[in-house]
Amino acid sequence: MLLSRKVLAPFAVVSVAALVLAACSAEVAETPGGNNTEDPGAELDVIGEGNSAEALTERNNLRGADKMSDKQLAMTFDDGPRASSVDFAQWLKDNGVVSTFFMTGTSIVASTAQKAAPEKIAAMGHLIANHTYTHPINPSFARLATSQMVDEIARTDNLIAAHIERGAPSYLRTSGGSWSAGVQTALNNSDKTKHYIGNIYWDIGGDMASGYGADWACWGRQYNLTPEQCGDRYLKEIRDKKRGIVLLHDIHTKTQAMVKYMIPKLKAEGYTFVRVDQIRGLKPAE
Ligand SMILES: [Zn+2]
Repeated sequence: MLLSRKVLAPFAVVSVAALVLAACSAEVAETPGGNNTEDPGAELDVIGEGNSAEALTERNNLRGADKMSDKQLAMTFDDGPRASSVDFAQWLKDNGVVSTFFMTGTSIVASTAQKAAPEKIAAMGHLIANHTYTHPINPSFARLATSQMVDEIARTDNLIAAHIERGAPSYLRTSGGSWSAGVQTALNNSDKTKHYIGNIYWDIGGDMASGYGADWACWGRQYNLTPEQCGDRYLKEIRDKKRGIVLLHDIHTKTQAMVKYMIPKLKAEGYTFVRVDQIRGLKPAE
């Protein structure tokens, strides 16, 4: 089934130059797009609605905030699993939080415990999603050869497909969120990858501007924050925006501690939590 595209303003092709990434393992602190040229009265695509297994990747990065309910968050954890991710996922489950783990193939195969993690975390009710195999950053994912793009997604798909509900779509976030029209075409043209919905971008946790937080930067030498200090930055952005997809990295022990600090506060304030496949308003970001 092709997604019906009703009324969408013309989008600019994502500039590869705009997606040049920081030379770290984390996501780029870059906000894609600029002017919002959409007619506010236009009817937007609703991507993933009905959980169509045939849904294709979209030309633009996808975000959730515009059509998510107030006080609804999708916590996303990238770059893992680590051995500690299983206990962390159990803590989330015990606290009533479902979330999405964007895993890399290299993290999954790194140890016996990590190989077992996707199945265990999926069994807890979390969504397992694809974050490439080797996490290409330099050059960025969008600069890879077409065959490499497909290979990066397909190799990790081989490791996680058994842990995604049969018939349900699979979700993708490239390393650094790197995306372009060329990536979209490459993935949609391959039988190995065309069942993916993506690219899943984020609304919250992208950078340190405006007093907000990005976990990988919080723990770096420049800021060197405590989990509580960085958590307060995330809470500020969440309270300002009220909803959205939250970018986090469970490979950091401090991030796990920060989330355990944040969740009780968010629940007390009435926030609820969904997996990205439960967002009914994913839409192109730019
Ligand atoms: Zn990543």
